[in-house]
Amino acid sequence: MSTPLRLVTQTLTQADTFLIVSHAHPDGDAIGASAALGWLLQRLGKEVILYNESGLPEQFDWLTLPDRVATELPPKPPQVVVVLDCGDSSRVHTDGSFPFAESTVVNIDHHLGNPEFGDINWVEPHRSSVGEMIGLLAQACGVSLSGALGECVYLAMITDTGSFGFSNTGSDTLRLAADIVEAGIDPSRIQARLQTQLTLARVHLHGLALQQARTYAGGRLAVVSTSQEMFAATNTTAADCEGLVTAMRNIKGVLAGISLRETPEGQIKFSLRSWGETDVRSIAAAFSGGGHRNAAGGHLDGPLDTAEAQLITHIKNAWGLDEGRNTVYG
Ligand code: 5GP
Ligand code: MN
Repeated sequence: MSTPLRLVTQTLTQADTFLIVSHAHPDGDAIGASAALGWLLQRLGKEVILYNESGLPEQFDWLTLPDRVATELPPKPPQVVVVLDCGDSSRVHTDGSFPFAESTVVNIDHHLGNPEFGDINWVEPHRSSVGEMIGLLAQACGVSLSGALGECVYLAMITDTGSFGFSNTGSDTLRLAADIVEAGIDPSRIQARLQTQLTLARVHLHGLALQQARTYAGGRLAVVSTSQEMFAATNTTAADCEGLVTAMRNIKGVLAGISLRETPEGQIKFSLRSWGETDVRSIAAAFSGGGHRNAAGGHLDGPLDTAEAQLITHIKNAWGLDEGRNTVYG
């Protein structure tokens, strides 16, 4: 067992009261890992509160949680705060605050460049997902992956690996998935739950946005953007943009897919996706962002068209791309 994993296991065993925290606007990894850790701690007989500034997103309302997800911090600080899937401490709250000075902070994460802001840090960038790390933690504690615990770990893993399709899928990931299936979890049930979350409004937003998708650098960069006007016209929000950036990446010949979203305050949040060796994290890092090699994000000042021009120029310079024909894929 690695030293950080041993330290985390010791802390979980010794303390009694826990708060589990994940980043605002949680994805399936953040929520799945939080809920899985909640189940694990409950099975160890601990007192546990799940907390997320944005609460439980509607798309995960089918998940069996150990408790509701609180959107207010408890009045009394717990002994231990476990922070999950946060590449840095400012991701917990949208205002960047991190009010946990009175507790022991355990930071469990898989983002490259995590500054190890916890009192105990278990950071392994090669792990597919934080959910995978919680699954390993459960095994280290001798707790079975059956029932909701296994389901939550599985949700986290398929979210961050694109259902075991991305390059972050390691042999450990697949071995853990096999252990979960062996513990009685039905993978297709979780997959179906995760994928049947579209609303007609979201489909309309995607239609509107995709119609205006465009490419740069001879088809090697593909961009889709969504404005406040589009959200208003389709009765949607930024959360409904999920899936747009992968559509851009999946265009033949594209090295990086780009999605830009206008916030109500006029800021521009962007997502980048790539395949294989193409590193989009370093691009995001140049715009106060971060993430992983093939999935990253950050933000820029508005308006949308200025942000788009700035991002495209930066990528073309960084990668030495011109507007000529795509010579990478012919
Ligand atoms: P998404 O594009 O789905 O929002 O995020 C993809 C990956 O990039 C996630 O791992 C996420 O943590 C990371 N990421 C997205 N936006 C930001 C950001 O503004 N700052 C940092 N540090 N990471 C980000
Ligand atoms: Mn993650």
